[in-house]
Amino acid sequence: MAKTAAKSSANVREYKLFINGEFVDAAAGGTFETINPGNGEIISRIAEGTAEDIDKAVAAATEAFPAWRRRAAAARAKALFKLSQLVEANAAEFAELESLDAGKPIRDSSKIDAVTAIDALEYFAGMATKVEGTSIPVPGPYYNFTAREPLGVIAGIIPWNYPLLQAIWKIAPAVAAGNTVVIKPAEQACMSVMRLAELIAEVGFPPGVINIVPGFGETAGEALVLHPGVAKVMFTGETNTGKIIAANASKTLKPVGLELGGKTAVIVYEDSPEDYASTIAAMAIFANQGQNCTAGSRLLLHESLHDAVLDKVVEKAKAVKLGDQMDKESTMGPLISEEQLARVQSYADAGKKDAKLILGGDPPDDPDLKNGFYFSPTIFDEVDNSMKIAQEEIFGPVLSVLTFKEEAEAIAIANDSPFGLAGTILTRDVGRAMRTAQALEVGNVWINTWGAVTSMSPYGGYKNSGYGREMGFAVMQEVTQEKNIWVNVK
Ligand code: NDP
Repeated sequence: MAKTAAKSSANVREYKLFINGEFVDAAAGGTFETINPGNGEIISRIAEGTAEDIDKAVAAATEAFPAWRRRAAAARAKALFKLSQLVEANAAEFAELESLDAGKPIRDSSKIDAVTAIDALEYFAGMATKVEGTSIPVPGPYYNFTAREPLGVIAGIIPWNYPLLQAIWKIAPAVAAGNTVVIKPAEQACMSVMRLAELIAEVGFPPGVINIVPGFGETAGEALVLHPGVAKVMFTGETNTGKIIAANASKTLKPVGLELGGKTAVIVYEDSPEDYASTIAAMAIFANQGQNCTAGSRLLLHESLHDAVLDKVVEKAKAVKLGDQMDKESTMGPLISEEQLARVQSYADAGKKDAKLILGGDPPDDPDLKNGFYFSPTIFDEVDNSMKIAQEEIFGPVLSVLTFKEEAEAIAIANDSPFGLAGTILTRDVGRAMRTAQALEVGNVWINTWGAVTSMSPYGGYKNSGYGREMGFAVMQEVTQEKNIWVNVK
């Protein structure tokens, strides 16, 4: 039976669509609910945008574009700085919303989500004044130069695992460069994005510059991707959804940026300190309940330290405090939904058939957690890379442990994946670290660490993990197009 047949919590918040600077009901009048994944209670009721609302949002963004792109870059920067100050002033509330809605432990959301979002707003506010072209020393009586221009209306479609951050990673660079945006947050968790809309209204961005239309992927999301008024789609989500979006976008020849799934290998070479290796390995898979696209879901251990490191990872997994995400003591919260819980369980069941279960494999027994979507930290040993649990993205706290003898073997296993988002290398040998970094077919490499991401560094995938880049100067190329201008100076 669905755990979500649940009652409403005492404090159900209501959110409307944010279109053309106003909070409005959905054209068709529909709403949907989000639930607290920690106890199954309804916590918000949200207007459900459909194609008609998407039309209105795109029309508003189209109308706002000419004036917004002409506005001084410094003025665009100022608006983003003001938004960052408002997010900062409300950081504690954002942490609470993010935890309530997305299930992340409050101790993490207070340190990670709002802090990183503020950093991104500040960084891209600074970027507004740095969108530059080049001049080219062509032969003949010509002055030849390029200008980088905004694209128009950019659609941002985002997932539920970091709603606030994902919204800002889409909005900030696009708006800094002079584009206008329509954001479609994920139906499972969008309270923080709707709260952000209220702050956007408070900043006083011109109506239509930023529009936020929650709704379902197959309706609102698809309408946005197919819309002829949208110049580009920036998407973060599952690889299969990314393929559908790329196919739909091709109907109007829209470019797309795709940040998709991953199956990160954490390679532990024989000279890696065991304590440190186990700390990184445990953090890489259990942070955010494993619901990170870069989750270190494949732990590749050199045979010489396999037993010692695995023992320590198991110790750390046993020390995880799985519990109510709003409790400051909890280090792991629930998965996002009942559907996700069933999905993770099905992978754990496949692992039980194929590999050796060392720990977990099921939801916890704790009766206090029975109404939420909790899953115990799970570790499988003796995993072969061809197994389902090693090949497919699980998006849960399920670790596959594999063993290798040689550097080349570790690299071959790491690369034997349809995904290419990230890889972690643990070794004190700089030559080996760099050889491995060069050989890994991934967009992001961490040496002696895991999960470092900043607004300043380009982020994105190889292979089925997508294309295009977010963050850094790289994303400014993605949200602009280049114009080449010739001047006859004779
Ligand atoms: P989904 O792909 O299911 O959904 C992502 C977004 O796309 C949601 O807003 C969803 O709407 C929308 N959507 C679904 N179908 C369509 C469609 N046909 N047309 C347009 N939009 C659509 O991903 P999840 O939300 O489940 O997020 C988890 C995934 O995100 C994981 O695979 C993870 O690896 C990936 N991810 C990748 C990151 C990266 O940077 N590489 C970072 C974070 C996550 P709806 O709300 O209705 O589902």
